[in-house]
Amino acid sequence: MNDFEYIVVGAGMAGDAAVAGIRQEDPTGTIALIGAEPDEPYNRPALSKALWREEDTTPSTIILKASSTPGVTLMLGTRVTSVNPDAHTVTTADGKEFGYHRLVLTTGGRPRTAGIPAGPRVIHFHDLSDYRALRTQATRGAHVVVVGGGFIGTELAAVLAETPATVTYVFPRDHVDGHVLPEEIARHLDEVYREHGVELVPGVRVTTVAETPDGEGVTLTLDDGRELHGDVAVLGLGQDPETELASAAGLAVWEGIVVDAHRRTSDPDIFAAGDAVARPDRVFGRRRVQHEDAAVTGGRVAGRNAAGGEASDDHVPYFYSDIFADGYEALGVTDPTGASLVDWKEPGSEAVVYYFDEDSVLQGVLMWNVWGDEDHDTKAIAAQLLEDRSPREPGELVGAI
Ligand SMILES: Cc1cc2nc3c(=O)[nH]c(=O)nc-3n(C[C@H](O)[C@H](O)[C@H](O)COP(=O)(O)OP(=O)(O)OC[C@H]3O[C@@H](n4cnc5c(N)ncnc54)[C@H](O)[C@@H]3O)c2cc1C
Repeated sequence: MNDFEYIVVGAGMAGDAAVAGIRQEDPTGTIALIGAEPDEPYNRPALSKALWREEDTTPSTIILKASSTPGVTLMLGTRVTSVNPDAHTVTTADGKEFGYHRLVLTTGGRPRTAGIPAGPRVIHFHDLSDYRALRTQATRGAHVVVVGGGFIGTELAAVLAETPATVTYVFPRDHVDGHVLPEEIARHLDEVYREHGVELVPGVRVTTVAETPDGEGVTLTLDDGRELHGDVAVLGLGQDPETELASAAGLAVWEGIVVDAHRRTSDPDIFAAGDAVARPDRVFGRRRVQHEDAAVTGGRVAGRNAAGGEASDDHVPYFYSDIFADGYEALGVTDPTGASLVDWKEPGSEAVVYYFDEDSVLQGVLMWNVWGDEDHDTKAIAAQLLEDRSPREPGELVGAI
């Protein structure tokens, strides 16, 4: 069968949600879910958290639902190389062509490499295959050098320290998670990493990573001239949106594939969601958000509307991170280099952080070890606070969450 009612390109988190969205509106239409990875869609955040921390969590327990949805033809290990919007077809790397009535693009992002070639001991961490490669090498006593100041580096350095591997953690800011946390919390986090035996190497970037000539280890050079050695290097250097298919097909692309609140692209029969898109946000305007909440919500909306539904979404998505026993949820722009207010709930351990722009307008909210529940939905309160775009006296927010 070469024609499908729906084709979803990208079998990740948004693709999985898109399949659920299609089925919500259309119980029987044929769906092809085409993914470049060899694995069925899975919960990607588990790669740097639950798979290391929870004994019962394995690659098979993080598989999502799309693969068991009736009427879905899964094509894994299959890359789509072009989309022809006029003919309503997609072509895969092995030269096959498939027709669609409605197409959903959920192609996610591609890890940045900064020109550092991957190898058996040099892992740009993004996929389940990277997890498997790291898992076999990060054994007790192995020396792992973790590189990158974002969520992936921060989380991997923590879970690996508990493996327990010997961990050296290299990042460009002065403190761990310094891209989101104000200094008074980030300093605390530095101490937590040190207490777990992690060697911190702050304030530097890695310029080269190479496997040693005997293939037994890695050598890293830093931009201050130092060299580091280890058994394996794992890098989280950020990611770029996977937009080539969309651009080549003539779809509007600006920072990501441009979609409206219905996740419709500039072609009325093509929808898109997840890390690959620039989505409308009722507070911040159009922007690209590379987090689970936006991917799953947007994927479902794209799928529903591809199947004739009328869903829309422009909410302010949240993101989260878990680090040792600490964790946070956050919304908006959490740039700690501007003005911020730390409202301590429990001195030293629980706080809500408010971030402001130069006009004192609230830009972001981060809840450090502060968790909501049904009666006190902290994320909903934070979203409401962000919708008020008037300048504030920072003190007026104390106790707002
Ligand atoms: C290690 C890690 C930890 C994370 N932790 C968190 C977290 O704690 N909190 C949070 O909010 N978010 C987290 N994220 C981000 C979250 O996982 C992503 O926002 C989410 O997975 C995006 O979903 P997506 O479907 O857009 O992209 P993905 O899940 O990346 O899926 C895209 C899929 O499309 C495939 N693809 C791309 N191009 C093609 C093509 N041409 N043909 C076929 N297939 C294609 C890719 O191979 C991939 O499988 C984490 C991400 C990573 C990598």
